[in-house]
Amino acid sequence: MDLIQNGWFSEINELWPGQAMSLAVEKVLHHEKSKYQDILLFESKSYGRVLVLDGVIQTTDRDEHSYQEMITFLPLNSHPNPQKVLLIGGGDGGVVREIVKHPAVQSVVQCEIDEKVIEVSKKYLPNLAEGYKSDKLTQHIGDGFEFMRKHKGEFDVIITDSSDPVGPAESLFQRSYYDLMKSALKPGGIVCTQGECLWLHLKLIKEMQDFCRELYPVVSYGFTTIPTYPSGQIGFMLCSLNPDTSFKEPVYKFSEADVEKMGLKYYNTDVHRAAFILPQFASKVLRS
Ligand code: SAM
Repeated sequence: MDLIQNGWFSEINELWPGQAMSLAVEKVLHHEKSKYQDILLFESKSYGRVLVLDGVIQTTDRDEHSYQEMITFLPLNSHPNPQKVLLIGGGDGGVVREIVKHPAVQSVVQCEIDEKVIEVSKKYLPNLAEGYKSDKLTQHIGDGFEFMRKHKGEFDVIITDSSDPVGPAESLFQRSYYDLMKSALKPGGIVCTQGECLWLHLKLIKEMQDFCRELYPVVSYGFTTIPTYPSGQIGFMLCSLNPDTSFKEPVYKFSEADVEKMGLKYYNTDVHRAAFILPQFASKVLRS
């Protein structure tokens, strides 16, 4: 199906049946089929540059900071000393950009399956790909699930910034992946994964939370608001091996001055706390 019609891109997908976000297109900058997915990058009328994989919006210039800052600082600030971080996916570079800002982080390893996403982001999304210049970063091109099998007891925090659970990212939403992440963590380690949308995928989130609770002593679901993700909201599944972790109260608290210095636009300590306060319809399901 042609993703752009009459000058509008529409995000039509069975993962959110009967609804679609549309953006007016100014100019298509890049379109290719990589080994793994369809990659489209266009200049939009109102959200800046937009990266689309397999027809699904991954990031836009205007609202990307909400997602990148929250998926990064919810886990990193819940860990007393997040020195060594692993990132799975995140090909656009935005999460790397945020991870390397954290004062405790000494090294980041990224495992992204599709080098074409990295190339396209470096060329067209320089604000996101900025983190790729950091000398704290080591990159691997490959499947995150396979990568996880080979690493034991190495990381303080693992962040999975994946696309949705169809196509190359499907395995990253399964129990066996959470089991492998658990083995790849150091004692007291924390994982944070892209956790889909409360309005659309509550059943999937509940299933994931249930198996996570069998594997980790502490599990919480937090969320952020973001206009260009389906229904304007996306969440994160956070799990800790440290039974004393309370995700609602960050152990690492950024002051207003820190937030300014780091150039954060969405995350602050109060937003961190608020991310775990769920609306009644979701709280009722996820509490049980
Ligand atoms: N924040 C975005 C969202 O929720 O729509 C995701 C952004 S990021 C571009 C997602 C990345 O995950 C893509 O670059 C994709 O290539 C990568 N990815 C998908 N499956 C993967 C896998 N099995 N291993 C490693 N990376 C994977």
